[in-house]
Amino acid sequence: MAILKVARLGHPVLRQVAQPIPVDQIRSPNVQRLIDDMIETMREYDGAGLAAPQVHALLQIAVIEVAANPRYPDAPEVPLTVLVNPVVTPLTDEVEEGWEGCLSVPDMRGRVPRRTAVRLEGYDRDGRRVDLVAKEFFARVIQHETDHLNGIVYLDRMRDLSSLSHLAEWQRYALGVREQAD
Ligand SMILES: [Zn+2]
Repeated sequence: MAILKVARLGHPVLRQVAQPIPVDQIRSPNVQRLIDDMIETMREYDGAGLAAPQVHALLQIAVIEVAANPRYPDAPEVPLTVLVNPVVTPLTDEVEEGWEGCLSVPDMRGRVPRRTAVRLEGYDRDGRRVDLVAKEFFARVIQHETDHLNGIVYLDRMRDLSSLSHLAEWQRYALGVREQAD
């Protein structure tokens, strides 16, 4: 396994549309290695998710995992989930704003409106069909990651940029974490 280089905002790969993977190639060694490397890279950088275009691969793969993540201290846990060729359908008109960050937009946070419930269809890493309903934070991360597969970053989804914050100021003013005096 290997930790991959993460493309940052401005790299054209983040603005391109990823290609679906033929189902009979999901279990191929190349695709399996990419998935393993994406999981390792996401964990190395404490991401809640990572999409293949972020590691310069224009393929419809994303990985999600939230386990006691220091970047999202209040976020509920989400088990490791591998999405291949995901199709996301909103299940509600209800939209909620929440804080998001992105490994391709380092050290920034912004408030992003997202649907609170979505249907996710696609495949897992073994090529089995996935069809599930995701709500709230899991639904938010799915929408963030599948946006990457269409060349969209969270900044594009913000209603305006007034909440956009540097991580240090966000911790101070949005989370209320005080710097230690000693
Ligand atoms: Zn992202």
